[in-house]
Amino acid sequence: MPERRPYVAANWKMHKTSEEASDFIRRFRERLPEAATRSADVVICPTFTALPAVVEATRGTGVRVAGQNMHEAESGAYTGEVSAAMIAEAGATAVVLGHSERRRLFGETDEALARKVPAALSAGLEPILCVGETEEERDADRMEKVLERQIRADLADVGGSQLERIVVAYEPVWAIGTGRTATPEQAEDAIRFVRGLLAESDRAAAERIRILYGGSVNPDNADELISRPQIDGALVGGASLEPDDFAAIAETAAVA
Ligand code: PEP
Repeated sequence: MPERRPYVAANWKMHKTSEEASDFIRRFRERLPEAATRSADVVICPTFTALPAVVEATRGTGVRVAGQNMHEAESGAYTGEVSAAMIAEAGATAVVLGHSERRRLFGETDEALARKVPAALSAGLEPILCVGETEEERDADRMEKVLERQIRADLADVGGSQLERIVVAYEPVWAIGTGRTATPEQAEDAIRFVRGLLAESDRAAAERIRILYGGSVNPDNADELISRPQIDGALVGGASLEPDDFAAIAETAAVA
């Protein structure tokens, strides 16, 4: 089985001005051992307006920067939207797509995601594609159906050779921002299922693709999740807002 480089991403959502973001990075840099970014991908996803400040503050550290969303078109009459090329121009190398908050609150659809993922790849951005079931869907035994629908639809136009350029985050909606973390077994079962789906397109790529867990990860539970063979890292919301906490999670991933 190929070694997969651990990956942790901080999803800041609509938190932190540029000034607050720069201050975070200054404190994060003091706390994060240099070796961490040598053995793991450490990614910060600030708001669009804070991207330049975070790119500047992380220069030379190995820490990467990502957008939280993008429009699929190159340009056009889409007031309030931002394209992949604009995010890349700001210095980001990745973009979160399909976060459940976008799906639930802003009407993000699988059809749009099927266009966004290839558009991100064309602009040289690494898509961090989020998938996951609601509590209601899990209780109705529909988790696998939901994950299958999302993965098949969102990656419909991604060829086998491009598959390994994507990172997938399994984020059960019921665990996001709730303090209710999935058990390592639940997370691993879902991730194994997603990897199996990806293997139907390209078996080798599916073994190399990083699949993260997201949902109330914190410094106390990161190790039991990330140390599982199927769980390649974490997408972290609330706990990523504190430099000490996110540095501790990144350090855990780096030694996993
Ligand atoms: C997220 O926003 O992707 C997330 C996982 O949030 P939290 O860690 O706060 O549950």
